[in-house]
Amino acid sequence: MSIAEVGRFDLPGFAGTLIHPHHAGYDEARRVYNGMIDRRPALIARCNSADDVVLALALARREGLPVSVFGGGHAVTGSAVCDDGVCIDLRGMKDIRIDPAGQTCRAEAGLNWGEFDAATARHGLALTGGRNPTTGVAGLSLGSGSGWLERKFGYVCDNLISAELVTADGRKVIASETENPDLFWGLRGGGGNFGIVTAFHFRLHRLGPIVLAGVLLYPAPMAAAVLRHMRDFMRAAPDEVGIGMVFTTAPDAPFVPEPARGKPIVVVQLIYAGDVEEGIRVLAPFRAFGPPAADLVQPMPYTEFQKMGGNFPGAQNYWTADFLNELPEEAIDAYAKLALTPLSPQSAIILVPGGGAPSRVDEEATAFGMRTAPWNVHYICGWTNPADNAANTARVKQIASVLKPWSTGRVYLNYIGNEGQERVDAAFGEKKLARLRELKAKWDPDNVFRHNHNIRPAAAGA
Ligand SMILES: Cc1cc2nc3c(=O)[nH]c(=O)nc-3n(C[C@H](O)[C@H](O)[C@H](O)COP(=O)(O)OP(=O)(O)OC[C@H]3O[C@@H](n4cnc5c(N)ncnc54)[C@H](O)[C@@H]3O)c2cc1C
Repeated sequence: MSIAEVGRFDLPGFAGTLIHPHHAGYDEARRVYNGMIDRRPALIARCNSADDVVLALALARREGLPVSVFGGGHAVTGSAVCDDGVCIDLRGMKDIRIDPAGQTCRAEAGLNWGEFDAATARHGLALTGGRNPTTGVAGLSLGSGSGWLERKFGYVCDNLISAELVTADGRKVIASETENPDLFWGLRGGGGNFGIVTAFHFRLHRLGPIVLAGVLLYPAPMAAAVLRHMRDFMRAAPDEVGIGMVFTTAPDAPFVPEPARGKPIVVVQLIYAGDVEEGIRVLAPFRAFGPPAADLVQPMPYTEFQKMGGNFPGAQNYWTADFLNELPEEAIDAYAKLALTPLSPQSAIILVPGGGAPSRVDEEATAFGMRTAPWNVHYICGWTNPADNAANTARVKQIASVLKPWSTGRVYLNYIGNEGQERVDAAFGEKKLARLRELKAKWDPDNVFRHNHNIRPAAAGA
């Protein structure tokens, strides 16, 4: 079926916007975070409601067209868009209702984290959220959702009370501990494999809105010493401490000391998810080390801290990641060298410690596993010139090989690009993968939702 033919389809009752290839907003609507991705859906169905999602999905199935689901468009795989298919775009669905007394919310699936954080902060409430405000709530949460508050409040999926979704056969269902509990288990870490979530019901937590947070900057040659210090400090740190070490290029920004701008730098991003005075006391030994070239940790709104991560939409991106078993001296020395030669100004390698609340949840409780890995390393590599794609992709793989000897063999689903089925499977491990494939066979036997980090239905064979 040609794109032009699909453009003629009418969708009676559809209350959102149908964006065809000849529409003025088409190119903007199909753009995703990763500039490497240039896919042309036959139709972008920007939905206003769950009923719109049902209609758009029915159209795709009737016409035998591929389906992709667009939450915030941040997946580095670009799976929010598909060629010649129907892109079910949820960005028209941004309603959020907060129950301040009950500390819960109902959030529609088209919200991004900046919108979500701003709404909850108005009530002095928060949820562990993505480390970047334009990332979609939906894709991140379904992949389990890691963020600066996770050691205190758990992963996003640990705070999911229920989800409203449209299944592959077009039914609107609820998934919770009591309704469709098998589905609820799979939605907490299994990605977008089991249906199109139209709204999430989350548990929220009291936070701030002012917290002690910010960044510490160190010259790149200090990387090994700072990393050792972080490793040792985190052995006894309370759950309130959220921290990550980033190897990147210092931006040309006023908060960076002049001589460091444009040079390799080590950034420690730090938050204390509790009382500010207590945070000053707890973080004092960490901040005393060095000294850092700049200490910008101070009381600030949590929502401002959430905007401090790097964000390079439109850059060519290749990402990979690994959960690590340990970080012995040898690993630190090998890894620290990478701080001296960042791949590009649009790249960052981030190392985040585990522990805290997620590690106390039973491994089998959710589809997301790997709760006890002490470290998660994420290679966020971007650059501007497409001519560099092959060479830089090879370079990222080579960079990531340095820590492979200490890898658990498992990977965080939200952090990987198009690295093949084996790596997706490695997110779950054998036992969970088998359970997820059975679940997929029950809820999406035809693999309608396959433009994602795909779990193949059990019946389809290995
Ligand atoms: C700058 C940046 C920062 C990031 N920071 C973090 C971080 O701190 N923590 C973290 O865990 N991850 C992080 N990520 C990774 C992020 O979680 C994933 O890229 C995630 O897929 C983004 O969600 P999205 O809705 O924007 O994705 P999209 O690209 O819109 O969707 C990705 C996939 O998710 C599925 N999906 C999306 N919406 C729905 C829905 N409503 N129903 C069913 N399936 C759906 C679909 O399979 C879709 O293909 C970051 C990514 C970027 C680019």
